[in-house]
Amino acid sequence: MKENYNTIVIGGGASGMIAAVTAAEHGESVLLLEKADRLGRKISASGNGRCNMMNTGVTRYFGATEFANEVIRNCSIDDMTAFFRRYGLIVTEEQDGRVYPVTMQSVSVLNALQHAMKMNHVDILLRTVVTRIRKEGSGFICTTEDEKKYKAQRMIICAGGAAQKRLGGSTDGYRYLQAMGHRLEPLSPSLVPVITDSKSISGLSGIRVRCRVSLIDKKEILHQEEGEVLFTDYGLSGICVMQCSRFIDRKGLHMELDLLSSVFSSPDKAYEEMLTRRETFAQYSPVLLLEGILVPKLAYAVLKQAGIPLRGETTGSISDNNLQSIVKTAYHYKADVIGTRTLDDAQVTAGGISCDEFFPQTMESRITKELFAAGEVLNVDGDCGGFNLMFAFASGMIAGGFRKNEPYLPEEQ
Ligand SMILES: Cc1cc2nc3c(=O)[nH]c(=O)nc-3n(C[C@H](O)[C@H](O)[C@H](O)COP(=O)(O)OP(=O)(O)OC[C@H]3O[C@@H](n4cnc5c(N)ncnc54)[C@H](O)[C@@H]3O)c2cc1C
Repeated sequence: MKENYNTIVIGGGASGMIAAVTAAEHGESVLLLEKADRLGRKISASGNGRCNMMNTGVTRYFGATEFANEVIRNCSIDDMTAFFRRYGLIVTEEQDGRVYPVTMQSVSVLNALQHAMKMNHVDILLRTVVTRIRKEGSGFICTTEDEKKYKAQRMIICAGGAAQKRLGGSTDGYRYLQAMGHRLEPLSPSLVPVITDSKSISGLSGIRVRCRVSLIDKKEILHQEEGEVLFTDYGLSGICVMQCSRFIDRKGLHMELDLLSSVFSSPDKAYEEMLTRRETFAQYSPVLLLEGILVPKLAYAVLKQAGIPLRGETTGSISDNNLQSIVKTAYHYKADVIGTRTLDDAQVTAGGISCDEFFPQTMESRITKELFAAGEVLNVDGDCGGFNLMFAFASGMIAGGFRKNEPYLPEEQ
């Protein structure tokens, strides 16, 4: 292993590997340092092992939204697709613009990146924790845990975010960049399950239901999604719930599950159905009002939340008012939000190093020349659907020098 390189990349995840390859494609000698014993652990885990790597739809970024959009304009899906195609990986677009490897296996993405590094002679050091980065003259010195020193003219920080320590999540990247004068926006978990009051989820753990879910502050809807909700022993999970988690920033919020609008065209139609059922099942338990529409445990939970006495009652004895109340509750099944699970359960970190001090055309620091950053270490997080990997790949390619030989594009206002 040499001690002097044109470029050192810290972090062997999505952004780091693609940055290393892109720099090497431009003729640079590149060293990639990774603290784990293998590369790309989050890529392997992504999309349930299928790796939802990009999205062709309208971008959905939070934090430094405009910066993220500019990065995607500077390195488009076509540019990234062409990159992967060069190294043998073919991608396919599925529902909602989600782009996957055609094999539907994340290992194919990882293999393509590893193969690309080999073909471009990127030096890789695994099990190597960078402890310090120092600017010296026109370059950088990078010190590792075992006190080895590596020098480079260019340094690219791709150490990722703080989410999921077991998959490499760390705060190291923030630390290095803060030490170079960069500002950290507060961190919080995003795309994470939600903890709710225990009453509304009691006995429901393991149940999945397709519905509309709303995050609500008093009467104001803060965010709304549709999809499959999973009840757990601590609260609610599922992609649509996790997409709401980004907006949980205060106490006193609640979630409402609309369990019926995918079944009935309007609450009036649902009420008509209740009237018919009251007659048909007059002698039987009130749970028959909802059975066959909802799974039995959820039907019980709705009746309970609607305040319907269940013991000794029959469907026939339910008043019109109570029928109205059942319909209303099934359209607005309420769970009080206690908080979210921690960063260790989150798919991505909200917050990170401020993007104000980076150029979106190059990912170079506006504070320190030849210092670059890419990926989740920056204050950008996206929705489910491939947006996070897409930002990691695009910003990584740009940091590696994708637009290096082109004139500067003006920043969009
Ligand atoms: C379970 C799960 C599923 C996901 N699914 C999707 C999905 O389907 N689609 C999507 O778009 N996004 C998905 N994401 C998010 C996406 O994986 C990340 O946003 C993306 O991998 C970030 O890339 P990165 O290169 O910035 O960071 P990472 O991929 O986290 O890479 C950072 C690397 O830096 C290394 N490192 C950290 N500190 C040091 C140090 N001091 N010295 C040396 N190395 C260091 C880490 O070990 C790690 O390998 C998922 C995330 C998780 C956790």
